[in-house]
Amino acid sequence: MIDVATFGETMAALRALDPIRLGGATRLSVAGAESNVAIGLARLGHRVRWTGLVGADETGELVVRTLRAEAVDVTYCRVDRRGPTGLILFERRVGELTRVIYHRAGSAASFLTPADVLPALGPPPRILHVTGITPALGPGPAEAVEAAVTAAASAGTAVSLDVNYRSALWDRPRAARALRPLVPRLSVVVASEDELELVAPASATTEADRVAALLEAGVAEVVIKRGADGGTVHTTAATVRSPARQVPVADPVGAGDAFVAGYLSGLLDGLDPAARLGRAVTTGAFAVASSGDWEGLPTRDELSLLDSLPGTTLR
Ligand code: ATP
Repeated sequence: MIDVATFGETMAALRALDPIRLGGATRLSVAGAESNVAIGLARLGHRVRWTGLVGADETGELVVRTLRAEAVDVTYCRVDRRGPTGLILFERRVGELTRVIYHRAGSAASFLTPADVLPALGPPPRILHVTGITPALGPGPAEAVEAAVTAAASAGTAVSLDVNYRSALWDRPRAARALRPLVPRLSVVVASEDELELVAPASATTEADRVAALLEAGVAEVVIKRGADGGTVHTTAATVRSPARQVPVADPVGAGDAFVAGYLSGLLDGLDPAARLGRAVTTGAFAVASSGDWEGLPTRDELSLLDSLPGTTLR
């Protein structure tokens, strides 16, 4: 049985050491919010399925090969010849400021439909994880999210949504119109502070009101990512806060996805909210302290590594 099913767009990712327009060395990898979460969960020993469309190209091969190598189930992933595999460029512009450039319009992944994702939900997984990026990719992907969330919720699968607002893909009113209707079928909502308004009713104007409205609508847990300030979990029973782990910042991109992987892993393991959040801030810190979106994510044995004193050599 699959523990977590997820789907979305995974792109070829180029990381440049210098400004893109100057050329120079780059490192080729893959990146996608949902597949980052999938890899994070697989590293922690969970059975994860990622589904998506890639182009009939070498970067599509790289996406599938990478996920397979990370023990993510790609049974329902397929090639779609109508577009190429998307491309994302990361440019370390100054210091810790990273600029992200997308070439994803018309990509193979933008042709995703419900028919691609519904078969990947049987037999029902324990959790379906979706992000607010997928419905922004086009009408087919939006329908795929809607259909998958409906099917999963009616099969008793817990549905998790990371709001993950991307201003390059759509504006806030469109995102709110697409995401708010999903709420009654969601068990877990993960959002940054400024993303809560995209899922909460417009009548709620403070963070507390937005959280209360989501819990009232039936969401079991509202999880807030607060960057270097850590995170918060709200359930109807309690509110739990955690500071971030103190780590040197190597590359902050991907922290949110790593955080979600840690949180869902804790949920699957039956941890209480404080321990779930503790695992989330730990996996988030691993992503921040290592280069790449997912490359530095921990295996289960490595979760305690951040407890080691600075300068420790592990032999
Ligand atoms: P991204 O979109 O880049 O993946 P995000 O905005 O979705 O990031 P953040 O809130 O930046 O997510 O980070 C997610 C979690 O990662 C935080 O809640 C925190 O636990 C951890 N984290 C983020 N930044 C730091 C940091 N500088 N030091 C330690 N932990 C961090």
